[in-house]
Amino acid sequence: MDSKSISGAAADTQAVWAGEAGPFPYGAAVMPIVNAATFAYEDLTTWQSVATGGSDGHIYSRNSNPTLAVLESKIATLDGTEAAAGFSTGMAAISSTLFALLSPGDRVVSIKDTYGGTNVLFEHFLPRFSIEATLCDTSDHGRIEDELAKGCKVLYLETPTNPTLKVVDIERLTRAAHARGAIVIADNTFATPINQSPAAMGVDLIVYSATKFLAGHADVLAGLVSGRGELVKKVHHFREIAGATLHADAAYAVLRGMKTLGLRMARHNANAQAIAEHLAVHPKVTGVYYPGLAAHPGHQIAKRQMRGFGGVLSFTPRGSFAEIKIVLERLKFAQLAAHLGGVATTAGPPAVTSHVELTAEERARAGIPETLIRYSAGIEDVRDLIADLDQALVAI
Ligand SMILES: *Cc1c(COP(=O)(O)O)cnc(C)c1O
Repeated sequence: MDSKSISGAAADTQAVWAGEAGPFPYGAAVMPIVNAATFAYEDLTTWQSVATGGSDGHIYSRNSNPTLAVLESKIATLDGTEAAAGFSTGMAAISSTLFALLSPGDRVVSIKDTYGGTNVLFEHFLPRFSIEATLCDTSDHGRIEDELAKGCKVLYLETPTNPTLKVVDIERLTRAAHARGAIVIADNTFATPINQSPAAMGVDLIVYSATKFLAGHADVLAGLVSGRGELVKKVHHFREIAGATLHADAAYAVLRGMKTLGLRMARHNANAQAIAEHLAVHPKVTGVYYPGLAAHPGHQIAKRQMRGFGGVLSFTPRGSFAEIKIVLERLKFAQLAAHLGGVATTAGPPAVTSHVELTAEERARAGIPETLIRYSAGIEDVRDLIADLDQALVAI
């Protein structure tokens, strides 16, 4: 299939076919795992031509690798972007993107609810290089626009957020950032290209923890960046030098996972929606956070910018931390683990997972209740998941 027909295909079709048209070595039906650290040439002229960018090919796997190149092509097609680059983890993708684009004296505007590791980059590591990050209340779009109006190099967004599933208006804030010449980066890990297309809303660079829904099986760490060609080129150049590239084995695990991304996201969306609706009227539950619920404060924005509301929800059972310990330990169909986006349901309190490094007071200030349970609905039969939650909640 040529690249033109694939770019017009539906996302579910692209998830299967993008980057996978071949021809592959030995007539293989899928791109093999090319476990070569380096690539050998028979003549110096060809080697030199590839090394200097005169012709296509590979020199050294820190710079490029055939298996990784298929994955980069697949995510760029799904995101509708010009180029992509793969990294060893989601945090490698995010930190490399920021360090590739920012210089001392630059300013970043972002939100308070970014992923824990990203937040530490903003609060701890970037300031050491005299790069200031202004972190705004995630729900206060007016305040974010005021900060953008003062000028900045990067607007960094994430939506929906972890763990309270806040929704940020991508189009509105991207417009405000571009009016001041800023580059817009968005973490699309929770939504994936199946549920949300940030590039179509003007976002310049999209970052992913491919460890989560993209790979989908909790068996590999990976990160991806996709976006405008000239920006991805800078990020890719940083990767060549800083070295946090994605290994071919890991790239293959993500590629294998992504072929079923459309199917899996449809099930994640449906399961999380049904569970959120069930818990919203449950007598043992005091609060549910899911953008697919009409009562969620970000529901209208989510409806406009998302095609599905995702697989992650959070809720607070009645009671204290002692009660959520009972509920969590009674769950049969949920791994208690710091993970989300896998085929198996996972659950845990932010106090132990995403926000373990914060004190109870800091979590309170971030609007994260101590009794919150983050629940990543897997692809199991939803009747089993709901029955499981009911038998756990009945114990409190
Ligand atoms: C997990 C996660 C990351 C970090 O990704 P790793 O692959 O664990 O390094 C970044 N952003 C979000 C939203 C995540 O959930």
